[in-house]
Amino acid sequence: MHEWALAEAVVETVKRRALENNIKNFSVLKIKLGMLQQIDKDVLLFALEELLKLAREEHGVSVEHIVIDEEKPVAECTRCGYRWEIDLQSMDEEYREYIHFLPETIHIYVSCPRCRSKDFEIVSGRGLYVELY
Ligand SMILES: [Zn+2]
Repeated sequence: MHEWALAEAVVETVKRRALENNIKNFSVLKIKLGMLQQIDKDVLLFALEELLKLAREEHGVSVEHIVIDEEKPVAECTRCGYRWEIDLQSMDEEYREYIHFLPETIHIYVSCPRCRSKDFEIVSGRGLYVELY
């Protein structure tokens, strides 16, 4: 469900970009997908393909290739400056699910491996970015 909502937002972006730049055909739609979103890449790709088919039929906007790059979640401790990669796989499924729906809850389940502080920032691996060319 999440995947389809995201795909819809991405396709809206593609349509808007097409309109703004007066371009109908893009060769690559590149998506940088933060792994904290825990989006199923295959489902997202399928949803994008389906929605882009519609966009082509209805608006004549087309994309030749879709590339999805997954970005690993990296945190940086605000107290000691340590940087580490958050290992979602080692977490309980239940916690992962909370983080999926409410990314802010990550501060409850994760702490700095060096100083144990829960005061950290997510420096990458969150959100979704779209590039078109
Ligand atoms: Zn620390």
